[in-house]
Amino acid sequence: MSHSAQPAASLYINGAPVEGQGAELAVHYPYTGEVIARLHEASVAQVAEATACAAAAQPAWAALRPIERGRVLMRAAAIIRERAEELARLEVLDTGKPIQETRVADWPSGADALEYFGGLAATVTGQMIPLGGDFVYTIREALGVCAGIGAWNYPSQIACWKAAPALVIGNAMVFKPSEETPLGALKLAEILTEAGLPAGIFNVVQGRGAVGAALVSDPRVAKVSLTGSVATGQKVYAAAAAGMRHVTMELGGKSPLIVFDDASLEDAVGAAMLANFYSSGQICSNGTRVFVQRGILPAFLARLSERAAQITIGDPLDDATQHGPIVSPAQLQKIRDAIDKGLDEGARLVCGGPGEGVFVPPTVLADASDEMWIAREEIFGPVMTVLAFDEEREVVARANASAYGLAAGVFTRDLARGHRVAAALQAGTTWINTYNLTPVEAPFGGVKLSGIGRENSAAAIEHYSQLKSVYVGMGGVDAPY
Ligand code: NAD
Repeated sequence: MSHSAQPAASLYINGAPVEGQGAELAVHYPYTGEVIARLHEASVAQVAEATACAAAAQPAWAALRPIERGRVLMRAAAIIRERAEELARLEVLDTGKPIQETRVADWPSGADALEYFGGLAATVTGQMIPLGGDFVYTIREALGVCAGIGAWNYPSQIACWKAAPALVIGNAMVFKPSEETPLGALKLAEILTEAGLPAGIFNVVQGRGAVGAALVSDPRVAKVSLTGSVATGQKVYAAAAAGMRHVTMELGGKSPLIVFDDASLEDAVGAAMLANFYSSGQICSNGTRVFVQRGILPAFLARLSERAAQITIGDPLDDATQHGPIVSPAQLQKIRDAIDKGLDEGARLVCGGPGEGVFVPPTVLADASDEMWIAREEIFGPVMTVLAFDEEREVVARANASAYGLAAGVFTRDLARGHRVAAALQAGTTWINTYNLTPVEAPFGGVKLSGIGRENSAAAIEHYSQLKSVYVGMGGVDAPY
């Protein structure tokens, strides 16, 4: 069966589809490798056109009552929910993820963000600071034009997570999806227009890194929000600094998941699987360093390989499939090289392996040590590294001995220990007795090399706005001249 997902045009500028004038961008369905759409990158002039349209449209949007902006976002969320199945299928074609995941995780989480920030719109207020006669009040105002740049693992969710808080406070956005997964953001642009968003407030440009770089240094851009790798984050942060632009950086990680011997083994195994194999392991917050207390290590590995062997791998559009292909041949190679590296370094293959064709099966590498490459670097595939530990203080120190700090998890029935360890872990997001749940109500983001700023929750509004102080003089001016 052949698949096609050709959009009306490659870009979306000023409320309408526009064809790109840059190089061709073929979109492949990761499962079959077939070309499902042929797009074109935006030219440098089109990036400038998009930011100019955004800058022109933004003041009128910012001048609306917040509740009106919120209503547009809520309507968009409702449209997404009505078209859930069609959007879930498109996400499968774009990413290769199993439809049982894209039905519950991708667009639904994007709709949550639009609803959450839509509802929050009218609650954002300033402060009045009394000075005994004189007073100051603060206004939380939009930044202007925000650039959003996405990764390929959750393309639609990322577009919504960035657009919702940015737009609701009165910004306009120019969004560049990953060149691997360019389709979801175009759908979001159409849906927002249908929901009543004025032309120019949400624009999409396509392209590889160079198009992103042109966007980041466009003089009209006031803020850059990137989801991507640390290496890209360092470049984008540096480029943004030249224009003193605000940034949000949602980057990679090598997050620890610590399992104490009093934990529910079944829950810990289930969480470790979710933390490594969901979306074929292509999740930034994955708990890829699984530290297991020595006494329960044999039982943990036995149950893990038993359950991993039952995972259904295959056609992502089949309802029964739980584990799909890897997004691209380049990423497949990276993951296979990482597995080889782990085995060369002396790790033991408990289950899985390099796999065949477009698949890497759920893979567990045990007997690992902290120095091994597989225990230090992000693989971004379904590869779990298991490490043994003996006691709490030791494991916390080892968990924190990483340049990254996106997320962390702890499994224990001793709740005092759970809270103590969560407090001690250097990570932006931590879980006790669960893993990888990222509801829109809770802040999400990293520390150390994993990033700066927070998405989701009311905290995200602060990252898409600035405070203005207005000092009001109520008496005469006391000048010493
Ligand atoms: P990537 O860094 O290769 O690309 C991310 C985006 O940046 C793409 O759209 C790319 O075109 C663009 N880009 C590349 N060079 C650029 C430049 N010089 N200027 C501007 N834009 C540029 O990342 P990826 O391979 O698409 O995604 C995987 C990475 O993303 C992993 O490291 C993963 O951990 C991370 N990630 C983080 C989060 C999070 O929320 N923290 C979420 C998802 C993915």
